[in-house]
Amino acid sequence: MSRCKVIAGNWKMNLNAAQGVELIEKLKGEVGGCSCGCCDHGPEVVVCPPFTTLPAVVAAAKGSCLKVGAQNIHWAENGAFTGEISGSMLTAAGVTHVIVGHSERRQYFGETDATVNQRLLAGLANGLTVIVCVGELLSERVAGTTKAVIERQVRAALAGVDAAAMAGVIIAYEPVWAIGTGKVATTEEAQEVHAFIRALLKQLFACPCVAETTRILYGGSMNPGNAVGLLAQKDIDGGLIGGASLKADQFAALIRAAR
Ligand code: PEP
Repeated sequence: MSRCKVIAGNWKMNLNAAQGVELIEKLKGEVGGCSCGCCDHGPEVVVCPPFTTLPAVVAAAKGSCLKVGAQNIHWAENGAFTGEISGSMLTAAGVTHVIVGHSERRQYFGETDATVNQRLLAGLANGLTVIVCVGELLSERVAGTTKAVIERQVRAALAGVDAAAMAGVIIAYEPVWAIGTGKVATTEEAQEVHAFIRALLKQLFACPCVAETTRILYGGSMNPGNAVGLLAQKDIDGGLIGGASLKADQFAALIRAAR
């Protein structure tokens, strides 16, 4: 079964509205002016700007194949949750995707497996496509516990998600030691974990279609130089890209690599 590749850019805390629009204008030339969603001829392309940049980027991306995602979501609909954002606020802003469980949220902002699950469920309940990040620390890789960590994170993140709802889930395998460090996982290291995640999906869901159709992205210092090898792997269905998503020429080259 073929899976439409995904190239997703995580802008993190970079680019204000004007800078974001400038980047989108350059990228639009790359992805064309269609409105077909996941096209036959190209990867699904998603950009995830900071919250305040979202409306301007949604407006700038209109009429193109570019989709816009947020970098987080709270599980409550509204209330006393300073600094958080709800699913309905995101959908009202025209957002279609959301990242949850990024390692920077887990490392610096106390995100746990349980809160990642709550955020993922909230994204699905609001009709968003959720990009859920999992990945091991360097110490965990060195200790030989990578697969145990990934299994724990995937099981916890997907608790309460049924097979039908998995259509709205994209998994991003991001070894923490490769994020923003320039140290990319080898194609073999990445493929091994991706195949492990796909096998785990087979165990978790009775319907084999879930494992066959769920997109599993690689993230961690992906750039135009290493993307072709990674994207050629059988279980790697695209990339979640940080640094290289901020430069139009590099992100465009990654989109081309996924074609
Ligand atoms: C990320 O933040 O998800 C990421 C993969 O960053 P980078 O590409 O910069 O390593």
